[in-house]
Amino acid sequence: MSESSWGDLFVISAPSGSGKTSLAKRILAELDAISFSISFTTRPPRGEEKPGREYHFVDEKQFRQMIAESRFLEWENVYGNYLYGTAEAPVNEALARNEDVLLDVDVKGARKVKTCRPEAILVFVMPPSYHELERRLRQRGLDSETQILSRLRIAGEEIKDYKMYDYLIVNRDIDESVSRLKAIILAVRSRSSRMERIGQAIVRTFGE
Ligand code: 5GP
Repeated sequence: MSESSWGDLFVISAPSGSGKTSLAKRILAELDAISFSISFTTRPPRGEEKPGREYHFVDEKQFRQMIAESRFLEWENVYGNYLYGTAEAPVNEALARNEDVLLDVDVKGARKVKTCRPEAILVFVMPPSYHELERRLRQRGLDSETQILSRLRIAGEEIKDYKMYDYLIVNRDIDESVSRLKAIILAVRSRSSRMERIGQAIVRTFGE
């Protein structure tokens, strides 16, 4: 019997450059029974990204078709550029397999998920400070000066919404942040409501 009776939905948001992607990758590598929801997006692949791995890359017509067919749990126009959306069916299928699901969505997307799935657990990842985020964005060398300034401005807007989230992780050190996120996930997995099946099975071993 699996330890849990059913899966939970974990939503993680963070300003660009906060280390959210590394954090999510470590969690997926180090915990079992958790899968990543691969979003659909109209933005083109970047760098080493592969279709179906980081994202399902589609054109706007395909994306709009999916909206018309109500296939999204949530979707957003992120930063006024491209469309991003979480397909509902794969999330439900993973939850039904007793797996937890990790969604990486922006703040607006997280708000929508909280509305339609109030039981979802929302985790916000923050950089330790404006200056540290600036240093990290410069160090990773992916963006132009204009893009860096734009990312910092957007980050300033996004972090104001952290109180909507159930948990806040300040990403000073990746190992510590991984431990914290694991602790959050394991605490949710240990809820007595989620452990009901196994709890009942143990109670039964004591007889009537
Ligand atoms: P990027 O293009 O850098 O991979 O992602 C840009 C932003 O889009 C990030 O904040 C990321 O969390 C967000 N994002 C990725 N997938 C989704 C999604 O399915 N829905 C929403 N609302 N945001 C998403």
